[in-house]
Amino acid sequence: MDLSRKLAILADAAKYDASCASSGTDPRDSRGGSGIGSTEGMGICHSYAPDGRCISLLKILLTNHCQYDCLYCVNRSSSNVPRAKFSVEEVVALTLDFYRRNTIEGLFLSSGIIKSPDFTMEQVVRVAQVLREEHDFRGYIHLKTIPDASEELLQRAGRYADRLSINVELPTDEGLKELAPEKDTAAIHRSMGRLRLHIDDAKEAHKASAAVPIRVMPGATARPARPPRFAPAGQSTQMIVGADASDDRSILRSSAALYVRFRMRRVYYSAFSPIPDAAQALPLKAPPLVREHRLYQADWLMRFYGFDHEEIVDDGTGLLRLDVDPKHAWALAHPERFPVDLNVAPREMLLRVPGLGVGSVDKLIVARRVRRLRAEDLKQLKVPARKVLPFVIVDGHRPGAMLTATTSLAARSASPTDLTDPTTFPAMPMPMQMGLF
Ligand code: SF4
Repeated sequence: MDLSRKLAILADAAKYDASCASSGTDPRDSRGGSGIGSTEGMGICHSYAPDGRCISLLKILLTNHCQYDCLYCVNRSSSNVPRAKFSVEEVVALTLDFYRRNTIEGLFLSSGIIKSPDFTMEQVVRVAQVLREEHDFRGYIHLKTIPDASEELLQRAGRYADRLSINVELPTDEGLKELAPEKDTAAIHRSMGRLRLHIDDAKEAHKASAAVPIRVMPGATARPARPPRFAPAGQSTQMIVGADASDDRSILRSSAALYVRFRMRRVYYSAFSPIPDAAQALPLKAPPLVREHRLYQADWLMRFYGFDHEEIVDDGTGLLRLDVDPKHAWALAHPERFPVDLNVAPREMLLRVPGLGVGSVDKLIVARRVRRLRAEDLKQLKVPARKVLPFVIVDGHRPGAMLTATTSLAARSASPTDLTDPTTFPAMPMPMQMGLF
C-alpha cells in the first residue's frame, strides 16, 4: 500500500480523538540554528473544525488494526474498515515533511493495539525518540498512552513527549464494562496515577535545580545538569459523551475527580459519532453537539470560576440546559443571589455574574479602587453591558424589572422536550474533520 493511501486511512481513523490542543508546554524553537521546529510563535498552523474544535492536521494513528473490540470505536477488531499500518520511519518522515511545509504544529500520535500493549507502545515511543534524538525535532509531540503498557515505556514516553494522555473513554466504570469490556478502569487510573507521580517529580527536580545559584568564582562547583524532562505539558484525557446513558452530572463528577486525583491539564469531551455496523447497545444518533459545547463551558466554570460540579447541574434532570450557557442557567436558577453590586461584591461573586469573564472581573476590581462604577464604565472596560446589566447594581442602575423579565424569558425558552433528543434542537451544521487531501 502506498504512503498516501496509508495516510488517508490513518488520518481518517484518528479523527474521533478530540484531545489535540498544544497548550502548556516548554517554549522551544530552532531560531538559534540548531534543530527543527518550534512549540510557539509564527509558522505553527492551527486549524478549527466548524464546531470550534482545534485540530492539529498531522493527527494520525500508527495503525488502525486493533485486537480490542470497544463497541463505540470505528477501529474495533470486528469493524469492517480498511486497515493500514505505518512504520516508525514513515511517521518520522511524514512529520518532518509536513513540518517543513509549515502545515502542522507537531505530531499527535495514537494507535490501535497490535500483538500486545507493550509492543504497540514501544513503536509509538520509538517515533518520538527518533524525532527528538536523531532529528533534533523541537515541535510539539502528544502521545496517546496505552494503559497496560509497562512502567519503563511510560517513563520513556514522558521523556520525549510534551503531553501524554490516556483516554478514560466513558464517564463511569459501568459504561466501560458494558461498551469496552477488555478495558479496565482500575488499570487506566493506575497508569494515570503513575504519570502524575512522574510529572510531579520532574517538576520538583526542575524547581530544585533552578534554585541552585550559578557561582562564577574559581573552584566553585558548576550548577548541576538540568534534570530530565517528563511531559512538561502534563497529561490529559478524553471522555465520549452520549455513547452510554451517563447524564451531564455524572460526566462532570467524573471530570472533577480526574482533575483532583490525577491533576489533569484537560478533560476533553467528544460527542459520540455513530459508526458503521454499530452494536445494538449504542444509540442510533449522535447527541447534539451543543451538549459537548455546554460540557466544555461547565468544565471551564469548575476550573476557573470556583463552581463546584454539583452546583452546575442542580436540577432534577441531571442535564445541562442547552438553550443557555451553564453560568447563565445557574444565575437564572438562583435569583436570590442577584443583583450583585459591582462596587462592593467579592471577586468570587463577580465571577458568577453572566457575561463577566476572569479578565473583566480583574479589570473591574482595579477600576473600582479608583472610583465608584457606573453603567457607562462597563462599555469602557469592554464588558458586555447588555448581558451583565440585568444581574448587577452599579451607581445609577438597578435591574429591577429587567432581572425579572430576563428570568421569565429564559424560563419560557427552556425546552420542555427531551434534552437528549437531537431532533428537538435547531439544525446545526454537521462538523467535518479537516482533511489532508
Ligand atoms: S483499544 Fe482503542 S483503537 Fe482499539 S478498539 Fe478500543 S478504542 Fe478502538
